[in-house]
Amino acid sequence: MANSLDWIKTELESLKEAGLYNQIRTLESPQGAWLVVDGKKVLNFCANNYLGLANHPRIVKAAIDAAEKYGVGPGAVRTIAGTLNLHLELEKRLAEFKRVEKAITFQSGFSANLATIPALVGKEDVIFSDRLNHASIIDGCRLAKSKIIAYDHCSPASLKEMLDQHRAEYRRALVVTDGVFSMDGDVAPLDEIYEVTRGYDVILMVDDAHGEGVLGEGGRGIVDHFKLHGKVDVEVGTLSKAFGVVGGVVAGDPLVVEWLFQRGRPFLFSSAMTIPDVAACIEAVKILESSTELVDRLWENAAYFKAEMKALGFDTGVSTTPITPVMLGEAPLAQKFSKKLFEAGVFAMSIGFPTVPKGLARIRVMISAAHSRDDLDQALEIFKKVGRELNVI
Ligand SMILES: *Cc1c(COP(=O)(O)O)cnc(C)c1O
Repeated sequence: MANSLDWIKTELESLKEAGLYNQIRTLESPQGAWLVVDGKKVLNFCANNYLGLANHPRIVKAAIDAAEKYGVGPGAVRTIAGTLNLHLELEKRLAEFKRVEKAITFQSGFSANLATIPALVGKEDVIFSDRLNHASIIDGCRLAKSKIIAYDHCSPASLKEMLDQHRAEYRRALVVTDGVFSMDGDVAPLDEIYEVTRGYDVILMVDDAHGEGVLGEGGRGIVDHFKLHGKVDVEVGTLSKAFGVVGGVVAGDPLVVEWLFQRGRPFLFSSAMTIPDVAACIEAVKILESSTELVDRLWENAAYFKAEMKALGFDTGVSTTPITPVMLGEAPLAQKFSKKLFEAGVFAMSIGFPTVPKGLARIRVMISAAHSRDDLDQALEIFKKVGRELNVI
C-alpha cells in the first residue's frame, strides 16, 4: 500500500474508537415489515419504505415486463442516446400526480439536488438554507459557489431577518428547505416560508424526499399538503423512499424543468434511471393514484405507534410525521438500546453525533404501511421490555 494512503488507516481507526464506524448489516430477504438480517428474522423499523412498495408484486412485475421488452440499461445520457418513451411517460405521470405542468427525473434525489441548485444560482448569488438541511442540499449549494446563509431551523422569522440583511447584496437568491426533516420528523412551515419570501425577489425550493408519497392528498407531497400549487418554484422529490424504487424528480415551474433538461449536470453527464426502475416507478404512481389506502394506513400506524410509545413513557420528540424518534440522550445508551432491540427481534438503528447534535442521540423508528397491527404490538412489547431494562421508562 502506498504511504500516501496511510492517513486513511489512521482515520478509519479513529472512527472505530469513537464508535462512528458504520457497521452495515447484511439483509437476506426483500424489504418489508420483516427482514432476515445477519441470519435472524427481525421486525424492520429502519427503512424509508413508507408504503411497503419496495417489494409490491405489481411493481416487481412492471419491472420484469419492462426489462423483457426494453432490456435494462439506458445506453447513455438521454441527450446523446435519446430518451426512452418510458422515461417520458414517468415524467408525464409524475407531473400529473404532483399537479404541475412538467417534471424531470434524475438517478436519485441526491443528484436531483446536485443538478438543480447549481443550475439556478452561481457565484454572484446567495442561498438561504435551513440550518438542518440534508447533505445533498448542502453539497448542491457548495457546487453552486454562491454565498450560503443558514437561517434558524424552521424559523420564518430568522429567514426574514437574513433576507432583510443580505438579499439586496446579490444578483439572484434561492431559499431552500427540506420538506420533512429526516431525523426529527418535523415539517418545514412552507406556507409561512412562502409568505416571507413573497416580499423579496427569490426562487423558492423545497426538497420533499420524506414527504413524497407521505404528505398531502394521497401522498402528493408537501406543496399539496399546504395547498401551495403554483407558488413553490421547485419541488424536489425522491422515488427511493415512499415510492419504493430509486430515482429523483424535480417538479414545479415548467421553466425550471426545461432549464434542467438543458443545464442540469447530472442529467447531461450521467446516464438515466434504468429501465426496470422507470417502469417500477410508473407502477408506483399508478398505485398511489388509484387509492389513498396505503397512505392512510401509514398515518394510522404512525399515530397508533406514537400514542402507545408515549403512553409507555417514551419521549418521541417533535415529530408530526411517521418518522418516530425515540429520544435517549447519550450515544452509548442509544447504541446499547438498539443492540438489545435487535437481540429481542426489532431492527431499529441508533443515531448519534454528528448526524444529530450531541446529547440528542436516539433510536429512529420508521413506521410503514407494511406493518400490521400485530407487528406494531410486538414491537411495542419489546420496546417496553428494553426500556425498562435500561431504566429509560
Ligand atoms: C433521502 C434524501 C435525499 C436523497 O434521496 P435519494 O433518492 O436516496 O438519493 C435527498 N434529500 C433529502 C431531504 C433526503 O431525505
